[in-house]
Amino acid sequence: MDDLFNSCDIVMVCPHCGVRSQHKYLNKIYGRYEFEVAPISKPFNTSIQTRYNSNLQGFDAIQCVSCGNYSIYYQGKMIYPIDSNVSNPNDDMPENVKIVYYEAKTVLNISPKSACALLRLALEMLLNELDISGRTLNDKINNYCNDFDSNNRLIKAFHLIRIVGNEAVHPGVIDIDDNEDIARAMFEILNEIVDETITKKNKMDAIFEYLPEEKTNSINFNSSEDLK
Ligand SMILES: [Zn+2]
Repeated sequence: MDDLFNSCDIVMVCPHCGVRSQHKYLNKIYGRYEFEVAPISKPFNTSIQTRYNSNLQGFDAIQCVSCGNYSIYYQGKMIYPIDSNVSNPNDDMPENVKIVYYEAKTVLNISPKSACALLRLALEMLLNELDISGRTLNDKINNYCNDFDSNNRLIKAFHLIRIVGNEAVHPGVIDIDDNEDIARAMFEILNEIVDETITKKNKMDAIFEYLPEEKTNSINFNSSEDLK
């Protein structure tokens, strides 16, 4: 982030408008604060005074040239807006899972650990929505992978979110707060899982519907899968 602020020509995705645009770096933030004063002789005769503080220590601000909104950083971390630069959920993500995804997105800047724990919960909810049974998340992942022809990439994606989410809430080997990129990657991985488990299936089903019935009624589908 220090490199970012040393540059006069910052190009980044704006957290307000989502456009990859030029940002102006504002090298000073002026703060105004008010306080109450009272003369010693008349302690109840108070009045409000205003002071201006030049260049608040540790704060930086940039302004998006596209939408004009400001983003404010404290000691290199974005504190406003609270939302972070991660993708929105896949359109096909079930609505209740989307709510948890957005919650994770909101807390990412403040607590990557919390974001990872929430994404683990979102994955479990997604598998519930897909009618996958199992006592634990690990069971549900294994049941999904056994029931559907899952490739190794998808299996890895499931377990990445499960393991990182577990590590986030238990004292473990991975320090998520020091590896925010890991937390950011988890959002992309969950979207990919939705793409694999819902979007691609929906696309294929939609095309399949166009085929004449006499061409498809002789196909032997595995009845246990019901083409989920
Ligand atoms: Zn903007």
